[in-house]
Amino acid sequence: MLQGARHVHIEALNKAAEALNLEIEIHELRKSSDLYSSSPHALVIPGGESTTMRLTGNDPTSQLLPALFKWIRNNPENPVLGTCAGAILLCDPQDGGESLVSAKIDRNAYGRQVDSFQAQLQSSLLGRNFSGIFIRAPRFVSVPNFNQVVVMHSDEAVGVLDSNRLALTFHPELSGDTGFHEWLIQRAMEVNE
Ligand code: GLN
Repeated sequence: MLQGARHVHIEALNKAAEALNLEIEIHELRKSSDLYSSSPHALVIPGGESTTMRLTGNDPTSQLLPALFKWIRNNPENPVLGTCAGAILLCDPQDGGESLVSAKIDRNAYGRQVDSFQAQLQSSLLGRNFSGIFIRAPRFVSVPNFNQVVVMHSDEAVGVLDSNRLALTFHPELSGDTGFHEWLIQRAMEVNE
């Protein structure tokens, strides 16, 4: 909750839970202590500006980012959804440790803010199309394991699933389609049963 499109994710999660007829509890994380006190089943890292997220999340007053990366590494079963800037952080945590999603990602690779766009995507994870909103989005430049590509924009990978960590270069929370949020909640249910 330090920066970026986080409130819309809360709405999308609530809508997804309603669609699944499940009750969820949402914890807003701003500091490392928020993470320790909430012990979540699943995690969302929103889109925004990854540089700002690194600065605020590594600030001594927060320390959320190192705590999150550690939690993700220690809890490989728990699902994580990283969107846009969140996908950048998963692929390139820049903390001296290994990538959390093994793919190479290039920031702002479509160009400037005016080069933002919306497109129909094909998702094998959802088994259907999805309307993707790309805002100054990053691009996957290489995905070592092509089996992990679960969302395509024509012939380009835009979603990579590495074990239970899903990195999407677009903003699923903005399209009004809660498919990926439902996936996150369902995975969290399955691994915590
Ligand atoms: N351009 C942003 C970055 O590099 C990502 C954009 C987004 O999250 N919508 O972090």
